[in-house]
Amino acid sequence: MNNLATLLAESAWAERDRVAVRQDDLALTYAQLNDTSARVATLLRARGVRPGDRVALVMPNVIHFPVMYYGVLRAGGVVVPLNPLLKARETALALRDSGSRIALAGPPFADEVVAAAAAAGAECLVMTSASFGSLVRATDPMPRIVDRAEDDTAVILYTSGTTGSPKGAELTHRNLMTNAATAAETLLHIGPDDVLFGGLPLFHAFGQTCALNTAVSAGASLTLLPRFEAVKALEIMHRDRVTVFLGVPTMYTALLHAGLPDGLDLSRLNLAVSGGASLPVEVLHRFEREFGVTVLEGYGLSETSPVAAFNPPDRPRKAGSIGLPVRGVELRLVADDGTPVGPGEVGEIAIRGENVMKGYWNRPEATAEAIRDGWFHSGDLARADEDGYYFIVDRKKDLILRGGYNVYPREIEEVLYEHPAVAEAAVVGVPHEVHGEEVAAVVTLRDGARTTPEQIGEYVRQRVAAYKYPRIVIFTDALPKGATGKILKREIVVEPRHGR
Ligand code: AMP
Repeated sequence: MNNLATLLAESAWAERDRVAVRQDDLALTYAQLNDTSARVATLLRARGVRPGDRVALVMPNVIHFPVMYYGVLRAGGVVVPLNPLLKARETALALRDSGSRIALAGPPFADEVVAAAAAAGAECLVMTSASFGSLVRATDPMPRIVDRAEDDTAVILYTSGTTGSPKGAELTHRNLMTNAATAAETLLHIGPDDVLFGGLPLFHAFGQTCALNTAVSAGASLTLLPRFEAVKALEIMHRDRVTVFLGVPTMYTALLHAGLPDGLDLSRLNLAVSGGASLPVEVLHRFEREFGVTVLEGYGLSETSPVAAFNPPDRPRKAGSIGLPVRGVELRLVADDGTPVGPGEVGEIAIRGENVMKGYWNRPEATAEAIRDGWFHSGDLARADEDGYYFIVDRKKDLILRGGYNVYPREIEEVLYEHPAVAEAAVVGVPHEVHGEEVAAVVTLRDGARTTPEQIGEYVRQRVAAYKYPRIVIFTDALPKGATGKILKREIVVEPRHGR
């Protein structure tokens, strides 16, 4: 039985009465989650969904999300999770591109999905608590999980990938089942007594595999937060006795900014996992100090289910490193022509293994460009140390070329984060008539900090080679962030300045 939905069925058998998923005062035990998702499967079958049909799922992290997700899978369908914050036009594009016949929407974003579905000729089912309750009561559970082959597609994740417009990464039942099992058994080492924090969006690979599928494969509980907000996150970690926190780096800076309020007890928290973007070393150390918990960083992409590398929990973790390739996955660093680079050199991360997607949905050319000789090319640059640990240098596309020298924004950002006044920082290239590109730093300050852009520039100048320090430093109130909380460098616009 290769269907990803079997993860849930097995935990429903072993952990019947344990809470599988909680959202404030709503909770579903494993038996209830399995039963309701089996009713959704019946409902979808009655509406004509056949094995391999795509069904879009457009919801924030509400308790209906996992019900629908496993319901579609149980019926043999392919889940197409979409960001609920997309506008109708963007959702319609994804519905058309994926050929989704049904869109499952939930408040508070249902209106845009209804409009998108109408434009794309798809049916839209809006799941309010009331409509969901009556639909489920009126339907019998589908008794059996529809069998799927391990290379059949389970989920299509829309991602901008390494280049161009959004494409659907086709992840198979095997991709997702093995990645979740690897995370549960070898990385997080979790069991039924664990409680995972579900503040990462479930429509994205990181939250979907590492929070949802990993919790379900271990029979653990997942506590959902529909919209990440630091104080609320700390409250639910206290309330639900969370043992594993999962987040992107900006969540770590937000939690540090909030600080641990008096009276909240996070003593059950025993692991924090970071991924999705580089976790500045300074932020990692501060978080470990202030929250008294080890932070392990991992690395992956939508195309790799996502986990490809992780700091193994049974070895001393290396701050600033994404760790080693995970079980069943190989990594290597390659030059532009695809040949491996020498020891210690920077190269593009290429990934091979049971986590690598089948390809981009309906995009044979993009697939052939990304997967060459069986290796998926990530677009991320890294180097490896003598122990085989990988260190991300930057994204290939974010590299700044100033006067013939490579400047890796991440290196400069690391220095900026060490400055006591800096809360968050992003370094970008700005066109320059003499140097080709100039290095610019856009920075938010910590509360009450008093400094000037010149002082920040000077701080970096004293610590890095002369060609690297930011000649342009701009203070801003907030950096643009995507739905997962990653800083969106492409949206940072810095006006070119001339001279020097
Ligand atoms: P996505 O497909 O949205 O998950 O984005 C994948 C991209 O996130 C990768 O190609 C990397 O550029 C970035 N990423 C993920 N994890 C890390 C990490 N630990 N350090 C640096 N970048 C990361």
